[in-house]
Amino acid sequence: MNCICGCGTSLSRDQIEFNMLAGEVAIELVVWDKARALGSPIAASDVAALIAAGAPHYQDLLDAIHTGREPGEGELERIRGWLEDSRAARLRLHGELPVPKKKIKLSDAEQAQIDRLHPERSFSGEVRAGEAAPAPADEAAEVDPFLEALLVVALEDVRAGRPEEAKQALRRFLSEGS
Ligand SMILES: [Zn+2]
Repeated sequence: MNCICGCGTSLSRDQIEFNMLAGEVAIELVVWDKARALGSPIAASDVAALIAAGAPHYQDLLDAIHTGREPGEGELERIRGWLEDSRAARLRLHGELPVPKKKIKLSDAEQAQIDRLHPERSFSGEVRAGEAAPAPADEAAEVDPFLEALLVVALEDVRAGRPEEAKQALRRFLSEGS
């Protein structure tokens, strides 16, 4: 088994456990980042807080894998606690946000989009996780949030090999908007 970040480091038996844990953290971060990328105001602060708390755990685990450091029991407990928080939040919010209630399944297109070094940026592409969005100070910040969300979905359709659906959705939006 190789390191989850894609660096090619092959793992010792001890490191495999941390690699698996990192994988669990990563997949939760991807799910929350996907929700964040849609730009919904629903539970936006919960989503931001989960990402802000979870992203450093992933970095710590990568660091442990890369340097051969063994994470302390306290550190592992905090990481497991965060995983529990994240799963509880999905259970609580799955009716309002596109997050799965239990088992996480990602399409091939979604998997291809995962940023292995920073899973919390896979969909949003933000420079730093958990950082508040910059205040709208220029024209670029005044993009219609609905159009933006639609573009995200359209992009996923295109990536998933459904360009027709993307085109139709965009056409619908443009004709309604004018
Ligand atoms: Zn690595």
